[in-house]
Amino acid sequence: MSEIIAIVPGTFDPVTNGHLDIIKRAKRIFDHIIVAVAVNAGKTPLFSFDERVELTRGVVESDSELEGVTVEGVKGLLIDFAKKKRAKVIVRGLRAVSDFEYELQMAFMNRRLNEEIEMIYLMPYIKYSFLSSSIIKDVYLNGGDISNFVPELVIEAMNKKIGRRNVQ
Ligand code: ADP
Repeated sequence: MSEIIAIVPGTFDPVTNGHLDIIKRAKRIFDHIIVAVAVNAGKTPLFSFDERVELTRGVVESDSELEGVTVEGVKGLLIDFAKKKRAKVIVRGLRAVSDFEYELQMAFMNRRLNEEIEMIYLMPYIKYSFLSSSIIKDVYLNGGDISNFVPELVIEAMNKKIGRRNVQ
């Protein structure tokens, strides 16, 4: 049987331990994982596209549990990228019911665009189920400690981008 390639897409603004949990779960199931960092025109990210690609790649490359996982920036339609990479699966994380409606809409749209690529949803470890990039930015901006929720590289990038405020 041929190898199954899976894409784990997102904005990753910034990448959190919740994202990493989903990537690790996907890695246990599929043969090769490509993390796809999206432009996301609908959101105004804190980190630029290039910064998000670089930071996510840096985090993935420094995590021994993520050996072999690659990170790429994606500018066009995700489904076209998946096809180009011969991926059969797109993996998304589902934290709560609140994620569901948006994901369902995306899944149906992606299916309309390409019937051959399946969307698969994984639930994170419960301690990450409330975690989002937005919450991380809020907590950081208000001087809270985010070290349990993001890798050290992300804290360094936040310090560089925003400046240290009583973090640690
Ligand atoms: P997007 O803008 O595409 O939703 P995000 O970077 O916010 O990008 O999220 C990317 C994917 O990771 C989504 O499937 C999202 O549900 C999932 N995700 C984000 N945070 C978590 C978390 N704490 N636990 C599980 N999945 C998560």
